[in-house]
This record gives sequence, structure tokens and C-alpha cells, in this order.
Amino acid sequence: MNTLDKIKNSIHSAMKSAFYKKHFESLNLDDIKTMEDFNRLPFTDKEDLREAYPLGLQAVPDEKIIRIHSSSGTTGTPVIIPYTQKDVNDWAIMFRRCYETAGITAMDRIHITPGYGLWTAGIGFQAGAELLGALAIPMGPGNTDKQIKMMIDLKSTVICATSSYALLLAEEIEKRGVRNKIHLRKGVIGSERWGEKMRKRIAGELGVELYDIYGLTEIYGPGIGINCQKQSAMHIWTDYMYCEIIDPKTGELLSDGETGELVITTLQKEGAPLIRYRTHDLTKMISDKCECGLAYPRIAALIGRSDDMVKIRGAIIYPSRVDELLSAIEGVSSEYQIMIDHLNGKDILTLFFETAETDSKTSLEKTVEHQFKEKIGITPKAKAVGMGELPRSEKKSTRVFDNRY
Ligand code: ZN
Repeated sequence: MNTLDKIKNSIHSAMKSAFYKKHFESLNLDDIKTMEDFNRLPFTDKEDLREAYPLGLQAVPDEKIIRIHSSSGTTGTPVIIPYTQKDVNDWAIMFRRCYETAGITAMDRIHITPGYGLWTAGIGFQAGAELLGALAIPMGPGNTDKQIKMMIDLKSTVICATSSYALLLAEEIEKRGVRNKIHLRKGVIGSERWGEKMRKRIAGELGVELYDIYGLTEIYGPGIGINCQKQSAMHIWTDYMYCEIIDPKTGELLSDGETGELVITTLQKEGAPLIRYRTHDLTKMISDKCECGLAYPRIAALIGRSDDMVKIRGAIIYPSRVDELLSAIEGVSSEYQIMIDHLNGKDILTLFFETAETDSKTSLEKTVEHQFKEKIGITPKAKAVGMGELPRSEKKSTRVFDNRY
């Protein structure tokens, strides 16, 4: 079956849900004759899914649904995703493939620290481990003493964690001087944007090889892609999903190698198929054959969220590049905020950053302005503020405030 037919099958299944019946109201499947026709279909966004609460996404009869998961969302209504037995099985198959790609085998003992429950994390790591035939150690998060004791006594060889929890564990192991009792050889880290500095620290302190695993609750959960032993880009299991990269502002399709927002259409999902779902993750497609031999295409390591990307005076600003730039300047902390205003016919970018320095604020501002101009191409107005002075947002990583529109 060709890709278009697979996609059309999935649209056909999706349209059995109350949500897609309405979303694609005037759509006649026979009118989709080419990929270009498909590329004109409306996107599905997380906000749309919230409106389908609680079970508006369900596309099969009740007796076929065996489980739900839910993405929390810091505000408002959660999104509920129903799963059939096939969905749960497929997810485990993809996850096993992730472990195998990372060189993890049935001989490994997999220490799972992500949470269990409505969230998709812990249970996905576990199902994949069991299918692989490895030993799953379902710890869940927290209780660092117990984590380290079990890690030593059970000789865990693989740690699964968020980057921040992996760092915390690494620091505790160092602090307790038990590094030589730890048997870890690999870490599988939930994919979020995290700096090279942090990666080196975790890898170095734990003595492990690190892998980024990709996924989101709306599309199974973690495990829909992972990087291999050769490259930092992540292989994506395209037998289960069709990927597009779009310009997040215009929605236009971009070509291979261009950075934009990843949009996913599920190809095999039964409980809640999703069509052209906007992930808001910024990346690019890499279609060249990977040295590792895996035929699945890859996406580059995530560089941020499309909600955080801004265009100003022709330059595109990604938070990951601002992170990088600031982390290289001594005396500047990692907390910053960007404010964009339109004043007197001109776009003005103000960059607030925190610093513990009190005497050298003006010279730090000059350095930041200079570096910004050099690396990003435009000159901001830099403003140094004291540590803790920038408002901490409830929503994670809101760093850019665009007041132009
Ligand atoms: Zn590869």
C-alpha cells in the first residue's frame, strides 16, 4: 500500500470519532487523490483535542478500548487519548525497537524513573523493556536513597529518566562516592531540549552513553523515535506515522533539511487516530541513509518549541541558540526573557537576563548585545537584572513575549 492510501485509511478511521466527524465535516475522502490534496487538510492542534474532552477522540466502539492516557497540560482541560489492544501492542513494539537501536538487550536491567499513571511515560518504558526480554525495574520518580540502593543492589545497567532527574541522580552518586558500585552503561533520556553542557555532565558522571527518546502522549507516548549509536539525529518509526515539517507561522510544507515544526499523522492507530497533528517541536527531516544501516528516516535533535520561535527584522530566533549564546558568557545566568515590541514603526527586541554581578552590569549588557549581533544577526537591547528578578512562569519555558500582534 502506498503512503497516500495508508493516510486515507487512517483518515477514514479517524472520521468515526465525534471530533473528526466535525473537524472534517465537508470532507469527501474520494477528493483526496494526491499528496497535495492531503497537504491542504486542516491541522489538528492540542487546543482542538481539549475540546474533544473527555472521549470525543474515540474512533472505535467501547469494547475495543482497553486503556486511556492523558496529557496533563499545566492549565485547562486535559487531553484524553483512548488506546485499543493493538495500540498498546504497537507502542511496546516501537519502544522495543528504541531499546534495540540503543544497543540494549535482553541481558540488560532497566531502571525506570519516569512516573506511572495517567501520564504515558513509565508504563511505556516498562512495556518495551518486557517485550525486549530485559528486566524492568519500575521505580517511578523520587526517593533518591532508594533509587541508588536498588541501582547498586540490582546492578541496573540502563537508566531511564528525564534529563533533570538524571543529573540529580548523577550528582547524588558523586556526592555519596558510590560511583564504583554503579553498573550503568546506558541512559535513555526523555527528549526535551537540553544543552550539550548538561549532556556531558550526565554522561561523564554516570559513565554512560546517552540516548534521546522522542514521543508525546497524543501519539502513543515516548518511544516513537530515538537516536542511534552513530548520530544525534533521531530515527522515527515511519511505519506507524507519517511526518511533515511545516513553517509554523504559515503552515506551508517545508522541504528536507529545512527547520520547522514537526506534524504527525498516525498510520496504524485505532483508539484515537490523529491527522496532521501539530507537535510544536522544531526540527528538520534528514533523509540520507544513516551509517547505522537503519532505513527509518531521522529528525534532527529538537531545537525548541514553535511557540517560542520568533522572526524579527528578517532573523529567526530560536531559544536554543539564545541559551547557547548566554551560557558561553561568564557572569550571565541561564534565566532570560525576550520581549519584542513594535515602536515607532520598528521592531525592538529587549533581552532581559539575570546576573549575580552588581558592579559590571553595564559591561555585561554590552557583551551580550555584541554576541547577539554576532551570532544571531540583530542587535538587541540587553538589560541585566538581579538573580530571581525575572518572573517564573507557570508554563514551562515561556521565554519569548511577542507584543507586536
Ligand atoms: Zn542511525
